Amino acid sequence: MRIKDPKLVAELAALAIDLRCATSLSELTSLGIGGTTDLLRITKHDSLPALIELLERHHIPYKFLGGGSNLLVGDGELPWVILQLAKPDPEIVIVGTLAHVDAAADLGRTVTFCAKHDLGGMEGLIGVPGTVGGALRMNAGAYGMQIGSYVREVKLYRAAARKLEILRGQQISFEYRHTSFAPDDMMLAVTLELPSKPYKEILQGIRICNEKRRSSQPLGQKSAGCIFKNPPGASAGRMIDELGLKGLSVGDAKVSDRHANFFVNAGQASAKDMLALIADVRGRVEKAFGVKLENEVVVWNA
Ligand SMILES: Cc1cc2nc3c(=O)[nH]c(=O)nc-3n(C[C@H](O)[C@H](O)[C@H](O)COP(=O)(O)OP(=O)(O)OC[C@H]3O[C@@H](n4cnc5c(N)ncnc54)[C@H](O)[C@@H]3O)c2cc1C
Repeated sequence: MRIKDPKLVAELAALAIDLRCATSLSELTSLGIGGTTDLLRITKHDSLPALIELLERHHIPYKFLGGGSNLLVGDGELPWVILQLAKPDPEIVIVGTLAHVDAAADLGRTVTFCAKHDLGGMEGLIGVPGTVGGALRMNAGAYGMQIGSYVREVKLYRAAARKLEILRGQQISFEYRHTSFAPDDMMLAVTLELPSKPYKEILQGIRICNEKRRSSQPLGQKSAGCIFKNPPGASAGRMIDELGLKGLSVGDAKVSDRHANFFVNAGQASAKDMLALIADVRGRVEKAFGVKLENEVVVWNA
């Protein structure tokens, strides 16, 4: 979708929106898949209510992008524009055991920045790509921990109320790759309350988690992490592996040889290829185990 109306372009500029025309989502997602649309980078949180009002007035649908590491985006010309927060400076401010973090901040850098201030707890998140905002939305987690456990409060734009709000941690429920945020809530900043730990000890935990990832995941390849959520009490990867599906492919979309729940773009895979592979694997798992796997990857299909 293209924004061409000069009056609208001027109104966006007045809101300090950085308009990047004809951006390819294949360059903004870790899977390297996705068509083209206009990207609107938000430099001031306070401009969001006016921005959304403007887009709605012009009947322009939108989607909210973090770091693009959990997304499968459709091919071709996309029928919505993309909103993304620009990174402020500084992204993180530490006060005692509290870390005030902008949602645009890189998650990995946040973990190491907090570690250098002797604040731990998030070691398992090292190696999870993307932004802090995306991690909040997905309740990102690994190796027995999840970001939601450390959330003290979240600043967000609530589309339903059309205003910026602050939610206390107790008002939000964080479950396995699921949160109680409304689908159109936009996370802008978070305050994390983290346990004090000596830097050396945190570093040791980070090294262990890094090693576990390196030994089990196809880190050099384009992926979106796990494609499916683990069903209660079971492992999606193990079920796919047991069916001998590692290496199964549709075009350049392929089940990783290394981790059966990671599907990789081994070249020029299209969203159509990847969706066909997902449907094929889901069907085979359901037939063999009677379990319908649910997507962990977020699909934005036109
Ligand atoms: C190699 C690899 C390993 C991974 N390992 C893990 C893992 O161990 N554990 C895990 O949980 N995940 C893992 N992931 C998946 C992914 O990194 C996480 O889900 C991450 O938190 C997504 O953040 P993002 O900023 O990239 O979000 P995006 O992919 O950009 O977006 C994901 C969803 O969040 C929404 N969103 C993004 N930012 C915001 C915001 N500020 N406000 C509101 N909504 C927003 C988007 O609209 C979309 O619905 C892995 C991915 C890869 C590629």
